[in-house]
Amino acid sequence: MSEIPAHSQVLVIGGGPAGSTAAHLLAKAGFSVTLLERARFPRYHIGESLQPSCLAVLDRLGLRQVLLDHGFTKKYGVYHEWGHEKWAVEFAAIPNQEIFSFQVIRSEFDQLLIEAAQQAGVAVHQDIEVVGLDWDGDRPVAARWRSSAASSGEKAITFDRLVDASGRNGLISTRYNKDRRFNEGFQNVAIWAYWKGTQPLDEGPPGATAAATVGSGWIWGIPLHNGTLSVGLVTHRDEFKRRREEANGLLDLYTKAVEESPLASRLTANAQRIGNDVHIEQDYSYAAKSFAGPGYFVAGDAACFIDPLLSSGVHLALYSALLAAASTASVLRGEVPEAEATDFFERCYRQAYLRILVLVASFYQLYDGKDTYFWKAQQLANEDFSGADKNAAFVSIIAGREDILDAADPTRELVHQIGSLQRQMFGLAADKNRMETIMAMEPGDIAQLMRKGEELNRFTTGGFSMSEESAVRDLYVAPAPELGLKRAAASVPR
Ligand code: FAD
Repeated sequence: MSEIPAHSQVLVIGGGPAGSTAAHLLAKAGFSVTLLERARFPRYHIGESLQPSCLAVLDRLGLRQVLLDHGFTKKYGVYHEWGHEKWAVEFAAIPNQEIFSFQVIRSEFDQLLIEAAQQAGVAVHQDIEVVGLDWDGDRPVAARWRSSAASSGEKAITFDRLVDASGRNGLISTRYNKDRRFNEGFQNVAIWAYWKGTQPLDEGPPGATAAATVGSGWIWGIPLHNGTLSVGLVTHRDEFKRRREEANGLLDLYTKAVEESPLASRLTANAQRIGNDVHIEQDYSYAAKSFAGPGYFVAGDAACFIDPLLSSGVHLALYSALLAAASTASVLRGEVPEAEATDFFERCYRQAYLRILVLVASFYQLYDGKDTYFWKAQQLANEDFSGADKNAAFVSIIAGREDILDAADPTRELVHQIGSLQRQMFGLAADKNRMETIMAMEPGDIAQLMRKGEELNRFTTGGFSMSEESAVRDLYVAPAPELGLKRAAASVPR
């Protein structure tokens, strides 16, 4: 393995999907990039179900065929048993269009991504932990690192720009800015295990994720290409505490939850759980107050993470990495002033995060146990949100109130618009007579709904300003001819 250089134009901390993608794109754009990863890949990671939007970024990395050849399960949708309702979501509503995504074993997926980054010219160093940063005022200028394999002392690498993609560890936000705020409304606990010999999911499109409510939580079933099924329970931490008091250990708690869910019981009938260990993660929904600063961008989970309900984690990791790479490239080439690129990154990533947050929040609203979530939000809001505004109360709590309570802030309006559209769409999806409801609609209303559906689909990729039409403060991400930020044609250069 080559030596870690004393200086790199760009340093990326962390080799998960966010770090590998940002590093890969920057190396392809001709910059010298060093990536330090504290683990040795393949390493275990949760986050197995990808959104179709991920493919657009994976295509930019030239990885679609690699992932297909690897044999990951192709996922064509999601099947829900949510409260009293059952419905399937197929990604490709339009005939002859293959819209799919992958269910991945993350250790394998992440390894493919980091290897591709290395092949693109990134100096990848595994088993190397960044133990601290050196700052010049509010600008990080060097990283101190240590080998986790060998017992050597600390060394340093200086850089022109930094991408912090250190995942939940969140080096900058937890150690330096100390601005990570946990989303009170989503203080959930997830507990999961793997099964073999499970029954196929008869409902829903091929490779679908199964999601079903259980008690006041929900359970996932993700089919993986090695023939195993990932089955996990997500529940609010208060409910988890109650369950834990009643159970004889974590495995018992998990087993009871699986048995409680008709869908999970069906899938695991006559199946064997692999091993006696269950994985557990808690308090994982959070956002940092700041996603960028002088000399650095924070990508992926290092900046924020929302409840796994809509499988949005890898999507946000990949798109924020693309955003970080484009912004870094333009700053280094002197095309956009640093302060403007910092502001652009901050706004885009937060907007994308808020969009998904509202989708997740509204989804919980469909479920019979919704009132506990909203009651909690209202209690914490110190504000009289009532009726239709419950959603605003909820979002204001989990997003950080100052982000949306300023009436002049466009994100507030955005959050309301998406919330109302989302409620309409999922309200229909949850309507068991929806075909009759649709048939009874006026043609104009159907067309309007279809347009809204398309808009809704765009929400997941939305927010990241990937086109001139969606420019944020005059800027947008342009992938070609070279990756960077571009100004919308009508704007006046600053
Ligand atoms: P990571 O993948 O965590 O990568 C960060 C990397 O940084 C790690 O490899 C780590 O070793 C390294 N690192 C950390 N600190 C240092 C340091 N100091 N020095 C060097 N290296 C360092 N997402 C989905 O898309 N679909 C799902 O179905 C899904 N399910 C989930 C279920 C649960 C219960 C949870 C908790 C999350 C789920 N997620 C899901 C989210 C998903 O796991 C993450 O959003 C995604 O892994 C984020 O990628 P990342 O690159 O930002 O971080």
